[in-house]
Amino acid sequence: MKRLFLSPPHMSGKEQEYIAEVFESNYIAPLGAFVNRFEESIKSYTGASNALALSSATAGLHLALRVLGIGKDDLVLASSFTFIGSVNAILYQGALPIFIDSDESWNLSPKLLKESIAKLDKKPKALILTHLYGQVAKLDEIVAICKEHNIYLIEDSAESLGASYNGKQSGTFGDLGVYSFNGNKILTTSGGGMLVSDNSEWIEKAKFLSTQAKEPFLHYEHKEYGYNYRMSNVLSAIGVAQMEVLDDRVNRKRAIFEFYQEQLKEIEEISFMPEIEGSRGNRWLSTITFNKTDPLTVVEALEEVNAESRPLWKPMHLQALFKNSLSFVDGTSEELFNRGLCLPSPTSSSLEELGRVVEAIKKVCQ
Ligand SMILES: *Cc1c(COP(=O)(O)O)cnc(C)c1O
Repeated sequence: MKRLFLSPPHMSGKEQEYIAEVFESNYIAPLGAFVNRFEESIKSYTGASNALALSSATAGLHLALRVLGIGKDDLVLASSFTFIGSVNAILYQGALPIFIDSDESWNLSPKLLKESIAKLDKKPKALILTHLYGQVAKLDEIVAICKEHNIYLIEDSAESLGASYNGKQSGTFGDLGVYSFNGNKILTTSGGGMLVSDNSEWIEKAKFLSTQAKEPFLHYEHKEYGYNYRMSNVLSAIGVAQMEVLDDRVNRKRAIFEFYQEQLKEIEEISFMPEIEGSRGNRWLSTITFNKTDPLTVVEALEEVNAESRPLWKPMHLQALFKNSLSFVDGTSEELFNRGLCLPSPTSSSLEELGRVVEAIKKVCQ
């Protein structure tokens, strides 16, 4: 039995051809034509005016905070129900994260966001908003709250490339947005990220910082410190090939979700992550919750049929790392963490192969 992973890499078939072009040109490093092509393809797909290819989405979030001037002891609001990569950069900058719980959308609660701003003594400078598992958050309300209070919005779209809200792509609603091409994301370059914004000055500044902050001289001149965060031409070639199949991948992920939903609809205790009105998520991972069954018994049953599954993200406000951080929570994400599971969502497998996941879940829940 072939192992069913949560979200394994799925190549388009064009990657090696483009990598061969890179080798023929000898622009193995550092930059080259494919870096530009990858950035252009992200711009044309998402509608963002500027894009910067980077070594990871985490690097993108770090640069976003740097260009916005967020530093020591500044307050940064963030979704609590997310992956650590979303918020590590807040710590890199010596800023203070403040975690906001989810609502019934599973994403950040606009109500708690408002409440947090009203209660804090100091004005937060930015919000890092995650679109969890590729499903968009309540953007209308959240964008309006950030505008009203002059809080920068950074969209963590690491999981949501290809997801849209009212026809506009996730990652393009805020001041800056990031996408990830890590190994398990909907597209992968083996590792990589993209920072986007309609503000060209921020992206220019981020580009400068991502290549060791070299002043424009023939010799090496430095006035401030930077990073080595740029993506290589080789990995960008993979990215260009991957972007060509993004629509196929989103459609496939959605078909996997619909398959699970249809096959498991008779089991009353199971619920699926919702999709807010007006949005079309990429369903990066199909995620469910159980009302009675302990999700860990389902993990064991799935292991027996060689299928990977995992609990939902453990909320940041419950992590030992953040025991001294402020949070505005009402138990929603904690409950989702205790009851939820991510199911195998491999676009490279047939729906028939996923039948064994369904059968194993049915057995445990009956
Ligand atoms: C994967 C992920 C990141 C980090 O992306 P990298 O490219 O691995 O740095 C950040 N936030 C979320 C929500 C993620 O899922």
